[in-house]
Amino acid sequence: MSRHYDYLVIGSGIAGLTFALKAAENGRVALLTKKNRADSNTNYAQGGIACVTSAEDSVDLHVRDTLEAGAGLCNEKVVRQIVEEGPARIKELIALGMSFSERENHGGELDLGKEGGHSKRRILHAKDVTGREIERALLAAVAANKRIEVMENHVAIDLITRRKLGLPGPNACLGVYALNTQSREMDTFAADHILLATGGCGKIYRYTTNPDIATGDGVAIAYRAGVPIANMEFIQFHPTCLFHPLGKSFLISEAVRGEGGILVNEAGKSFMDGVHPLKSLAPRDIVARAIDAEMKRTGAPCVYVDITAKSVEFLKQRFPAIYAMCLSCGIDMAKQPIPVVPAAHYQCGGVVTDVDGRTALPGLWAVGEVACTGLHGANRLASNSLLEALVVAHRAAHASRAETKVPEKIKLPEWQAGSASDADELVVIHHNWREIRQLMWDYVGIVRTNKRLQRARKRLDLLHVEIQDFYWNYRVTADLIELRNLALAASLVVDAALARKESRGLHYNLDYPNTDDSKPPQDTILQAAS
Ligand SMILES: Cc1cc2nc3c(=O)[nH]c(=O)nc-3n(C[C@H](O)[C@H](O)[C@H](O)COP(=O)(O)OP(=O)(O)OC[C@H]3O[C@@H](n4cnc5c(N)ncnc54)[C@H](O)[C@@H]3O)c2cc1C
Repeated sequence: MSRHYDYLVIGSGIAGLTFALKAAENGRVALLTKKNRADSNTNYAQGGIACVTSAEDSVDLHVRDTLEAGAGLCNEKVVRQIVEEGPARIKELIALGMSFSERENHGGELDLGKEGGHSKRRILHAKDVTGREIERALLAAVAANKRIEVMENHVAIDLITRRKLGLPGPNACLGVYALNTQSREMDTFAADHILLATGGCGKIYRYTTNPDIATGDGVAIAYRAGVPIANMEFIQFHPTCLFHPLGKSFLISEAVRGEGGILVNEAGKSFMDGVHPLKSLAPRDIVARAIDAEMKRTGAPCVYVDITAKSVEFLKQRFPAIYAMCLSCGIDMAKQPIPVVPAAHYQCGGVVTDVDGRTALPGLWAVGEVACTGLHGANRLASNSLLEALVVAHRAAHASRAETKVPEKIKLPEWQAGSASDADELVVIHHNWREIRQLMWDYVGIVRTNKRLQRARKRLDLLHVEIQDFYWNYRVTADLIELRNLALAASLVVDAALARKESRGLHYNLDYPNTDDSKPPQDTILQAAS
């Protein structure tokens, strides 16, 4: 049976939760999330939220830093709107119960961290567990809101659109099919406004800082519905992920370098000095490529962040989670350098939206890492993503309110399971999953070439055929849904990378090592024929 809501939100990270709270002022909200409600990239964010709050800082400086990192592809108007509206959204977050770290003995003044590419201290943080604290505060507010119904263990599969139903008139988004992974039933949801807040696609790479939920579902769902997707070639690799068998891709936040940590090689020699004026705090793409080059040059499996100049008391107080994690791996960061490698971290591109989160498909909105507003351009400035999610979720809730439509009385068809039976070849799903992640790491990583990209393209084409065969012939499971999305998101990254005949920001191709300044920079737009 199909259920109707005013708003359907898919995803329970900062974008989905913020939007749900604001949309609930105007109607009933259903919030679907594919695992437990706190399972999100948001929950893992360490460094903090970039926001202009100090008298020594200014909107102009934050805008300038963002544009510089974005390597010519940011939409300056969008950047300015998001940066300008940040302080108001931060105040609301604090009013909701979010607690940011304060400077000691400064009468409640917020402590400001510094991260790569920022010319000023402007990162609001809750020690080194900012995301966990944001998620806690937002989830508590959502739980107290009677107009929001949270449905865990619901994996959104595909959008239901007028075009898919063969209805006349302009296309619009009417609903979503979702798998309830506990009952194993398919549910049909109808809503006036549907928000994709499904986060990014870090799991397409073998090494990533992202948790398991980051399988590119939202981008794949939107692409299949014919919605334009932009700039997927720009995948940010975080330069410093803990290199240890027990480390589970744990992030060594940029804030560690912000507090004086220096990148060194096995011999203890700093290798960033001649690379960039900001040295170890250069923008992430430059640091990641320098680490990649240093590892290739020395043959070492990792490099190190050395913050032994700081006292153990400072490190325990400023980085409690990182300190504890390192110690559990036998690394005392106060006494020895921390071994690190780069890992896939953030999807700068995504579903094309305006600064209100509006997509090209009426009724469909997208906010957060799944979306591409034009803020990040070819490279995200550190800690701008939480800011973007907060500001755009607010704007989307307001914009959608103005567009409230009379619900159309269209009875949505139920999901057709056909003659599907349980898949007994689970090994195929797991093999394909591993293969995609490995080939993306080997062929579509930090440094790319045309030949490697084409090789990846060929392998992905074969995998698509196999996955589609599985998808149509077996009972759909969460693993299969994710695999299908993972393969599509990986293909979008490869196609976008092949389309860009230059190196820019995070996209570095040895066959076109230079930025093409002969014409204005262009977004890479991919859209399925519909
Ligand atoms: C280790 C780490 C550290 C980071 N540090 C920072 C930082 O310091 N500052 C900063 O600005 N950014 C940071 N980031 C990036 C930032 O955390 C994310 O970009 C941001 O949290 C994304 O929020 P979101 O709401 O868009 O998505 P997420 O928080 O990822 O939430 C996505 C939600 O969608 C759900 N979902 C996905 N697919 C489906 C589906 N098919 N059906 C139903 N539900 C679905 C997920 O379960 C999840 O609830 C960090 C990221 C990581 C991984």
